[in-house]
Parts: sequence; C-alpha cells; structure tokens
Amino acid sequence: MAGAAAVIPTLAPLAPVEATAQGWAPVAMTSALERHPGPGGTMSPDMSLQPATAGGESHGPPALDSLTKASRLADDLARLASTRSEAMAAGAPDAAMTRDGASFVKPTTGTLTSSAGPRWGSTHYGLDIANRIGTPIFAVADGVVIDSGPASGFGLWVRIRHQDGSISIYGHIDRSLVKRGQTVRAGDRIALMGNRGQSTGSHLHLEIRDEGGTKLDPQTWLRKRGISVE
Ligand SMILES: [Zn+2]
Repeated sequence: MAGAAAVIPTLAPLAPVEATAQGWAPVAMTSALERHPGPGGTMSPDMSLQPATAGGESHGPPALDSLTKASRLADDLARLASTRSEAMAAGAPDAAMTRDGASFVKPTTGTLTSSAGPRWGSTHYGLDIANRIGTPIFAVADGVVIDSGPASGFGLWVRIRHQDGSISIYGHIDRSLVKRGQTVRAGDRIALMGNRGQSTGSHLHLEIRDEGGTKLDPQTWLRKRGISVE
C-alpha cells in the first residue's frame, strides 16, 4: 500500500514521472484506438482525420489533448498505410511501423547472401541482398541524404541520416536516385542495385550506424523495427 499511496499525490515530483514513463504508450494507443472521435462520423478514423493533421500541429489546448492524440495515431495509421502502399507499389517487399509512429521499409528484394559477422578473416558489417542490376533500393526510414556518390570500396553509395541520429548506408549501387541534402521518406526509391566497387556480383550492401557511429547488425536493427530479412 505504501507504493500506491505514494502515487496519489500528483504533485509529488517523482511518482507521476515514473508512472507516465511506464504507462504512457499503451494507454495512449488504447484510448485513442477505441475512441475514434472523428469529425466525419461515418468515415473511418484514418480517412476522416487525415486532412486535419496539417492544421493540427500549432494549437493544443488541454481540452483537445485526447483528440490530438487520436488524430496523431490516426495520422500514423494513415501514414503507415500510405507508406506501405507507396513502398509496395514501388516494389518494396515489406513495411512496418513502430509504436511511436516511425515507418520502416525493407530496403530491397532479393536473396540474403551475407549477414553481419565474421567473413573471410575479417568482419562483415553489412547485410547483403543480391538481385539483378537495376533492382530498386528503398530508404529504410525517413531521413536526409548525407552522401550520394563515389565511395571507396562501396563504388557508389547513398548514406541517409535518420531522425534518431542513426545512419543507413547503401553500397555498391549502380545508380543513385537522390541528391545530398534531400529529405526522403521510408520507402522512397533512393538507388538502383549494382556491382560497383569491391563487389563480386550485383547486390545491396546495407550498413547501419548508431548516432555515435558504432556499426550495428542491420538484420537485428531491422528486425527490432518489424522488418524481417531472411
Ligand atoms: Zn556486404
């Protein structure tokens, strides 16, 4: 009971913060999902709330808080549907969305030929997916293109910095479809698969770095975000 009593005085500095941190996402998702306070009435929540999102950013009186949350979730759902349909229309094999609304897309189609790990006496930090030259390659997440052009070893590459500071790297590409400084969304076509640089056949070499530059296992990184590359 001591623990429960400590939570009741909402002005206590620590308890509300912890409760919010632990309970926020599921509560927000559930209440927003079940309420559907869409102005359209008969329309589905994502359809009816989609047009309102552009104007919904600047004002947020407390009374509109739950509506704003619902609107945000509906926007996320609409965005996932749009990301998924756009990505799949463009040929991307899979798309997913995490609980905070970020979209992730499988970078290309083909055969997984190498995962990250020891290879040929050194460490391979990439995820290799082989397919024909010219196979479209998609941004795995929203971000900004920080490199597009020649790169040692990779032949030609695209690098994208994402909102959390992580970076995705697409190597050995045949052609880049983006420019440095360009903003891209998850699922945008950014390059065509190739065989440039130190490469023994047409494939995508995907690397992921965290915000500190540490090389991560791309397969694990994608799996944690709902994208399976097997
Ligand atoms: Zn590779």
